[in-house]
Amino acid sequence: MNVNGYEIDEREIERWVKRNTLRRILVQAPDGLKSVALGVIDYLESLGMSALLSADHTWGGCDLALDEAKSVGADGIIHIGHHGPVWFKPPENPPILFIPAYSIVDPTHVFEKLLDELERNGVKSIGLATTIQHITWLTSLKETARKRGFTVETGRYAGFEGLVVGCDYSSLGTGKSDAIVVVAGGSFHALGAAIWSGLPTWGLDPYTGVYRRVELKSVLASRLYALSRAMDASSFLLIVSVKPGQKRMEIAMRVKEALKRRGRKAIIAVFNDLSREKIENLGVFDAYINTACPRLVIDDPEIFPGPSLNIGELKYVLQGSLEGYSLRDSLFLDLRFLEDP
Ligand code: SF4
Repeated sequence: MNVNGYEIDEREIERWVKRNTLRRILVQAPDGLKSVALGVIDYLESLGMSALLSADHTWGGCDLALDEAKSVGADGIIHIGHHGPVWFKPPENPPILFIPAYSIVDPTHVFEKLLDELERNGVKSIGLATTIQHITWLTSLKETARKRGFTVETGRYAGFEGLVVGCDYSSLGTGKSDAIVVVAGGSFHALGAAIWSGLPTWGLDPYTGVYRRVELKSVLASRLYALSRAMDASSFLLIVSVKPGQKRMEIAMRVKEALKRRGRKAIIAVFNDLSREKIENLGVFDAYINTACPRLVIDDPEIFPGPSLNIGELKYVLQGSLEGYSLRDSLFLDLRFLEDP
């Protein structure tokens, strides 16, 4: 069925409902797809189900409303708009259905224009990636680029060709292309791809019909500034999320220990959604270490009242030098440095 410009596989929903003999379902969707969730609720009710809308944010496949479902007695969760779980294995109970919402907006015309620009820039090979919303267009976009003489590389993530999520760009493949093209709404995924790959990256937004090359200079400057300020910090707030795919309690404990061994103090604070107000309520700290979604530090640094860093960046603060730093450290979870005395 088509709901507000998105294709939803209602037969998949019906099969899942029958297979699991469900009675009350909590429907969850990111803010941009809440209206699609309302359409799914109508459909569930037409099947005789009781269906509830989760009004809270959900930011990714990492952010599943397990506790909410339990507290309202829902015996199943439908999570719309993300391909599947990210960074965690969902429980068998309650049954969970991740159902993509495929955009019907055809990006081909804008993609052709972007290929003109890439040609002008001497690009001959591209790594092509997209989000689950636009993945049904990937094959035809690949063909379009190949017909124009480009070599196109796509990898796989979670079983989907060319799929990226905000914190994982492993599908970008070997990274030997001249450039990366990311087809996705907004600039969030294109920025992540540029950080991950280090290659010239263009984002194409099918909704606005705009494409743009990603500029990393200001992001790098902001990260280096935050890290250099954090080097002198003696008190840290360690941020832990309760979202299933962002919960890194064990890592937070190891970070706290590593800081303690170096004579620095850290308090662990537990959050669901983060906000500056909630953080400021906890008092003043010299620096903030984020173990939740790594994109918070990169995209929303103003949430933190002081210098903020991701776990992959902590090693530079501990070693007291930025030598060897790459923006990719902000997305990677390389924790070997925590084992050092
Ligand atoms: S980028 Fe953040 S919100 Fe998105 S899947 Fe990763 S951890 Fe979740």
